[in-house]
Amino acid sequence: DSRLERISSAIRVIPDFPKPGIMFQDITTLLLDTKAFRDTIDLFVERYRDKNISVVAGVEARGFIFGPPIALAIGAKFVPMRKPNKLPGEVISEEYSLEYGTDKMEMHVGAVQPGDRALIIDDLIATGGTLGAAIKLLERVGVHVVECACVIELPELKGREKLGDKSLFVLVKGA
Ligand code: IMP
Repeated sequence: DSRLERISSAIRVIPDFPKPGIMFQDITTLLLDTKAFRDTIDLFVERYRDKNISVVAGVEARGFIFGPPIALAIGAKFVPMRKPNKLPGEVISEEYSLEYGTDKMEMHVGAVQPGDRALIIDDLIATGGTLGAAIKLLERVGVHVVECACVIELPELKGREKLGDKSLFVLVKGA
């Protein structure tokens, strides 16, 4: 698919951000390329439009960029999965480990119902800790997670292994 090559070229790699040794995959340049951004959304919509998905769950912050246009196009609701203490209503939360320490992900109680069918969206999977927490949070309230999807995968970090039996769909690979 020639669309994937354009998407891959539109992602900028910035060395040593946010710290030395990290090659940061920057999707803000993908958003500047109107064709590549549209193709990104179209590729996800083509895959998910007939999968009976009732909720697109977007992971803060860049899942909030890609999730809503997909949700609108496939007729699903959009639910933000946020960093701690950002959501104003009652939340359920899931703790997960980072390279150093832990973080937490929160979702509004009542945003999803048992029996909902979810697609989880983020820009990138590295170690898989973030998506793993999103899966747990949704499954705890009886949601069926159909798949996780990202624009970019860093395969060397083996994040897929943290997703258990959930499948992961990605458009491009980074290093
Ligand atoms: P993981 O939990 O280790 O899989 O890290 C994934 C999370 O970190 C996602 O929410 C990403 O947005 C963020 N992240 C990690 N590395 C990068 C990067 O190179 N570019 C953009 N986001 C990144």
